Amino acid sequence: MALESPKKRVAIFGSTGSIGTQALDVIRSNKDLFEVEILTAHTNEELLIAQSLEFNPNAVVIGDPAKYEKVKQALSSADTKVFAGEQALEEAADFDTYDIMIAAIVGFAGLKPTLKAVEKGKVIALANKETLVVAGDIVMQKAIEFRSPIIPVDSEHSAIFQCLVGESRNPIERIILTASGGPFLGKKPNFLVNVKRDHALQHPNWSMGAKISVDSATLMNKGLEMIEAKWLFNLNPNQIEVVIHSQSVIHSMVQFEDGSMKAQMGLPDMKLPIQYALGFPKRIKNDFPRLNFKRYPNLSFEEPDYKTFRNLSLAIEALQCGGNKACVMNAANEIAVWAFLKNRIGFLDITAMVEKTMNAIKFIEKPTLQEYFDSDGEARNFAASLIKL
Ligand code: NAD
Ligand code: MG
Repeated sequence: MALESPKKRVAIFGSTGSIGTQALDVIRSNKDLFEVEILTAHTNEELLIAQSLEFNPNAVVIGDPAKYEKVKQALSSADTKVFAGEQALEEAADFDTYDIMIAAIVGFAGLKPTLKAVEKGKVIALANKETLVVAGDIVMQKAIEFRSPIIPVDSEHSAIFQCLVGESRNPIERIILTASGGPFLGKKPNFLVNVKRDHALQHPNWSMGAKISVDSATLMNKGLEMIEAKWLFNLNPNQIEVVIHSQSVIHSMVQFEDGSMKAQMGLPDMKLPIQYALGFPKRIKNDFPRLNFKRYPNLSFEEPDYKTFRNLSLAIEALQCGGNKACVMNAANEIAVWAFLKNRIGFLDITAMVEKTMNAIKFIEKPTLQEYFDSDGEARNFAASLIKL
């Protein structure tokens, strides 16, 4: 008789966010397969405490040190160790006691803990696309060196990953990333100039964190995903295409050298790619709603409007340029999105800030990790200087 395999011990970095909470939903429904080892949050100590009381992790990290005492007190009768601060994130990623990290921190902040987990040879369920956008060459090289499998959580990349199962001997001719087009599909600059935060946050098909929602509205998200795909699947820029598919039912496609294409389909629900990454290589039975084609009599495909949504063109430029270009672009975009969310700049200013920063920061063709950090810092400072007081 085969022995039951032990539970996978899961570390969720960014457990209070959109991906983090959905990952906990998946674990809650599969307690026979997974247990929670580490949870981390940046500022939402209330939710971190509630999650810890429910899932009883070995350790939690609260990013904001001012909230350490409150978390410690609330968990005093549990056997959960409490840590605080940025450095503690890396230290927690260095623990031996977990098997798989769900990298669900948003932005550049996810890079260091994810790199640490890669260096420990952990399985990485990667939601934090910025990690690969910033330093994809180094992360992938370390993943090979330390035998750390990176399983994408981003729905498009999960789709491609799923299409590639069983195809290891078959080269990819091209991939097609589908894009919903976001809340402003079909709009022109005369409309976009006036849009505000709340409108940009209303994504038609997905409910996500604020930063990625704005990135979806500007199409920067698809640009980041092109760069993410380059590193994950070892592709040339000209093998990566984007098509607008507003129903978000085909999550992405791969074309092989015989012209045959594979697509992965399903309802737009991040729990599915999260669960796939957690369970891989096994698919886990669930009762998520099923796709009914009769509800989707027309699936549409169109070319993106590169002129209006210039962030996508800038990301393609960064993809083709290589070096520190995407790192600089990402840093400027994080500052610009933050400023837009604070109503400090307009929607179209996001692209202007990103473009100016990309042109201003010195190009480095083969950066070291330290040079990526430096480029990120310089780009942030430059972009911030563009915000009018
Ligand atoms: P979110 O804003 O909802 O959550 C972010 C999480 O990161 C929170 O737990 C927060 O506490 C933590 N965090 C934020 N800033 C931090 C910092 N400086 N240091 C440490 N922790 C910090 O974001 P999200 O929508 O869950 O997205 C997370 C990542 O997953 C992003 O990289 C995003 O691009 C990617 N992603 C998200 C979705 C989605 O549906 N939400 C889909 C695909 C990919
Ligand atoms: Mg995506």
